[in-house]
Amino acid sequence: MPELTDLATIRALCEKYDFALSKGFGQNFIINPGVCPKIVDGSGIDRSWGVIEIGPGIGVLTKELARRAGKVVAIEVDKRLPPVLAETLAEFDNVKILLQDVLTLDLHQLIREEFPDMPVAVCANLPYYITSPIIMKLLEDRLPIRSVTVMVQKEAADRLAAAPGTRESGAISCAVQYFAEPKMLFTVQPGSFYPAPKVTSAVVRLDIRPAPAVQVPDEKGYFALVRAAFGQRRKTAANSIASGLGLPKEAVLAALERAGLDPRVRPEKLTLADFAALQAALGTAR
Ligand code: SAM
Repeated sequence: MPELTDLATIRALCEKYDFALSKGFGQNFIINPGVCPKIVDGSGIDRSWGVIEIGPGIGVLTKELARRAGKVVAIEVDKRLPPVLAETLAEFDNVKILLQDVLTLDLHQLIREEFPDMPVAVCANLPYYITSPIIMKLLEDRLPIRSVTVMVQKEAADRLAAAPGTRESGAISCAVQYFAEPKMLFTVQPGSFYPAPKVTSAVVRLDIRPAPAVQVPDEKGYFALVRAAFGQRRKTAANSIASGLGLPKEAVLAALERAGLDPRVRPEKLTLADFAALQAALGTAR
């Protein structure tokens, strides 16, 4: 099988299977031959690992994963692709394709059934239109996975990797840091894809923590507070929290003070520990 990074090969496959790339499914395929090996290097997997890939497309990253991992399960939503993948991945007996929407799939069950005795990593060039829901599902479902190595838009990668308390931080940065240790790996230029997207991409790796970064008594309430704080970007945390959680502003201001925080603080200045202290202080105010 000729290399899948070769445009002539991609065009020939598209013609053979009467397949046109779908913008709606976020299909931008990797055509730079250096990128897939670099992503797999960055993921740190080897033969002893099981890998879940989200969105194999025509299989360019899947092939590199199959060469280097013990087993790969690739989840693809586009029903036109499994026949293409049957051809492009024919040489591998350690790859399984699931025709499913990753957002509705029971990943706990998948891991139990497919990887009963292997460490598991997620590795993917994500469909950019659902980056956040996919990342949140992977983290919030508390899956027995060790790491998530994903290519996303550079701007999204910056937010995933931002430390709470710094300028780029947002609600998703707090969620990532709560469950994982993020690391920005490298950027990838638009010309490395077919078709070329408008923006630069980047690969980040999230190493799942054995236990969350901070202890909170009520995780749901904690994330409701974090989301509310970032709900209105240009407002102070107090204003956003009051309107987001439907609390009197005075109660939020008093809680901020009790937690030892500046009542005019902006949400991006708050660390995970600050949010935990604020949650505890709000608890006593209600
Ligand atoms: N892995 C290929 C590559 O790197 O060239 C394709 C990556 S492309 C950016 C994203 C892939 O995700 C597409 O194949 C698309 O059909 C698939 N996809 C989109 N939404 C999905 C979903 N909800 N569940 C599973 N796969 C999805």
